Amino acid sequence: MKNVWLQENKWQDVEGYLKTKKTILVPFGSVEQHAHHLPLGTDSFLAQKVAEDVGRSTNTLVAPPVWTGWAPHHMAYPGTITLRPETLTAVAEDTLQSLIYHGFEKILIVNGHREANLPPLKIAMTRLRNKTGAFIAIVDAFYFNAEAGKRLRKSAPGGIGHAEELEASHMFYLYPELCDPAKTATNIADKHPFLQHDPYAEGDRVLTASDVAGYREATNGIGLMGDAAPSDAVTGEAYHKAFLENLTELIRYCEEEVKVNVRKPDIPL
Ligand SMILES: [Zn+2]
Repeated sequence: MKNVWLQENKWQDVEGYLKTKKTILVPFGSVEQHAHHLPLGTDSFLAQKVAEDVGRSTNTLVAPPVWTGWAPHHMAYPGTITLRPETLTAVAEDTLQSLIYHGFEKILIVNGHREANLPPLKIAMTRLRNKTGAFIAIVDAFYFNAEAGKRLRKSAPGGIGHAEELEASHMFYLYPELCDPAKTATNIADKHPFLQHDPYAEGDRVLTASDVAGYREATNGIGLMGDAAPSDAVTGEAYHKAFLENLTELIRYCEEEVKVNVRKPDIPL
């Protein structure tokens, strides 16, 4: 394919692609506040760049990105746009069903809105798996790039959360012109271990939900959860490369080892 983005091709290009390859990447993000040092589009920019880079190196098509996600807690700060979870599930389901209708059989969702987009996306994935038999996987940095994240982090437990060092380093590497490294901060709260939000911290925990006022308070009126102070572009580069390596292997695995028996769905109506 000349163009890695589906929307930059002609329909005949897609028809030709599907004769030899059935895999496609679909980036999902969020438009939400990312403290004083990162832009609102951070989650979408990162998902799109990871998908684009690996799409290029493996000749895999990338579907148009879904920019907005489920981010009600971030409405505490201006500029955030949130979909209702039902809307995100519907957007994901209709987008993927359209792709499966045309013959894509293995779909990798690259989710930049780590963790928070997962409930609506998992519902869409489960419905389509049962409806069509297609292989669908969600690539979420908290889970998929976890080994690199644990290795590269410098902050204390509680340091990984939102707009913190891993996300900031990744952005400083890829989009330095949109970032303000001088405005990083630290916000590691002293809380009961059960309420720990850092995905790489040890220990048992519960899941809780934030309301808008509570999230504003928990993020110190800045929008940061965790520690952004140790962020740097060199770490971001290592994190990005590990992500691409993982995703390259996942695409290889999908294409060579995953067997599917896909039933063509109706068009979404
Ligand atoms: Zn983010």
